[in-house]
Amino acid sequence: MLEKVVIANRGEIALRILRACKEMGIRTVAVYSQADKDLMHVRLADEAVCIGPASSTESYLNIPAIISAAEVTDADAVHPGYGFLAENADFAECVERSGFIFVGPTAESIRMMGNKVSAINAMKEAGVPTVPGSNGPVRGEPDQVLELGRHIGYPVMIKAASGGGGKGMRVVDNEEQLLNAITMTQSEARNSFGDDTVYMEKFLEAPRHVEIQVLADGRGNAVHLGDRDCSLQRRHQKVVEEAPAPHIPDDQRHDIGMRCVRACEEMNYRGAGTFEFLYEKGEFHFIEMNTRVQVEHPVTEMITGVDIVKEQLRIAGGEPLSLRQEDIRLSGHAMEARINAEDPVHFHPCPGRISYYHAPGGNGVRVDAHVYTGYTVPPFYDSLLGKLITWGPDRSTALARMRNALDEIVIEGIQTNVTLHRDRIFRDAAFIDGGVDIHHLEATLR
Ligand code: ADP
Repeated sequence: MLEKVVIANRGEIALRILRACKEMGIRTVAVYSQADKDLMHVRLADEAVCIGPASSTESYLNIPAIISAAEVTDADAVHPGYGFLAENADFAECVERSGFIFVGPTAESIRMMGNKVSAINAMKEAGVPTVPGSNGPVRGEPDQVLELGRHIGYPVMIKAASGGGGKGMRVVDNEEQLLNAITMTQSEARNSFGDDTVYMEKFLEAPRHVEIQVLADGRGNAVHLGDRDCSLQRRHQKVVEEAPAPHIPDDQRHDIGMRCVRACEEMNYRGAGTFEFLYEKGEFHFIEMNTRVQVEHPVTEMITGVDIVKEQLRIAGGEPLSLRQEDIRLSGHAMEARINAEDPVHFHPCPGRISYYHAPGGNGVRVDAHVYTGYTVPPFYDSLLGKLITWGPDRSTALARMRNALDEIVIEGIQTNVTLHRDRIFRDAAFIDGGVDIHHLEATLR
C-alpha cells in the first residue's frame, strides 16, 4: 500500500487524485508552479512544494524539480495525472530509477504505445482490429509507395509514428498528392517529434470515436470497463463524452473489450489505459492507446461503480487486480460536459477571476472541478475548469439531468462554454438520438 504520493499535475485532475488518496488514507504532496498557489488541492494536500515559475516547461514539465519534491517530502510514489509528463517514458524511467513508484505503466509500455507503428503492430498480434493501412513505416521506391496507396484506396491519411495531440497527420485525396504529402509529413514529424517515420492508413470519412477503458495489474491480469463515445469534438479536442457508446450491440462491446483485455495480458500491461478506436460501418478500428487516466474517466466510473484512480493507486502499491471481468456490470448511462474557460463563439481561452461560482447538484450529478468563487484562472495552462457528469438509469434521464445541471451552474467573471453545452449541444436533435460522428459538432457550429 502506498503511503505518500506526489501529485505531479494541477487543476481538476490533481484534486481528483487528492480525493482518491485521502479516501485511501494515503498522504499527499501537491507540487505547484508560482502561478498556482491558490489551487484548491494545494490547500488540501498534506504538503505542498513550489516547483518553479508559471511556465510549464519550468514547472510541471521539469523532471528534476518533481523528483526533488518527492525526495524532500520522502514520498514513495508519483501520480502524473494526464497531460504534462503522463505519457513521457523518460519521466517514468527517471521516477523509478530515483527509487519512487510511478503510478502508471512501465516506461517500456509507454514507449511502445507512444510509437503508433509499434502500437498498431502489437494490437494486430493480439487480435485487435486496426485501420487498413501500410502495416508499418512507409518507405521504399516511389513506385512501391504509389502501389501501396492504390491498394489501400483513397482517401488515405499519412501519420507520423511519433505524432500526438492531433499533429503530424495529413489527408491525401488522390495519387497526385501522395508523394509530396509524405515528404511534408516526414519533415513536419522530424521537426516536431525528432522522428520522421510515417505510416499510411485508410482515411475513414465519417467515423465515431469509441474507446475502451482497461485496468491491468502488470501480473498478467486485466479487465475492461466497457466503452465510451467521445465523438463530440472540436479540432480533435473532446467536448462531450458518454458511456456506454449508444447503439453498439452488447455482444460487439463485449468482444472488442475482451480483445483489449487479451492485448493487455499479452503485453503484461500495468495500470489504467484506454484503447482508442474509430467506429465506422459497424466496425472497430484501433488508432492508438493512451497509457494514463483520461479526462473522461468519470463516465465509466458512473456506470461501473469502479473508482479508476483508486485502482491505479492500488495497482501501483503492488496489489493484484481485485476485480474480475464477471464482477463488472454496466449500469445505466453517464454523460460528461467539459467546462472550459473560453468564449463560446470563437473558443479563445478566457482566463481571469471567477467572481461567483455556484455548482449544480441533485440526484445523479457529479462535479469534478477545482474552481471556486474568487479563484483566478491563470493564462498559462489548459482552459479546462472542470467536468459536469450526470448519471441516469437510462440515456434520456442522464441527458435530462445534464440539462438541469447546465441550467443550475453559475460561473461569473469569465466566459465559459456553458452556453454552448446548454443551448446547443444538449438540445441538438441528432446528438440526442445518439451515435453522431466525429464531424458532427463542427458541422453544427458552422
Ligand atoms: P493523436 O495522437 O494526434 O491524437 P490519433 O491517431 O489519436 O492522433 O488521431 C486523432 C484524430 O484524428 C482521431 O480522433 C480522428 O478524428 C482523426 N483520425 C486519425 N486517424 C484517422 C483515420 N484513419 N481516418 C479518419 N480520421 C482519423
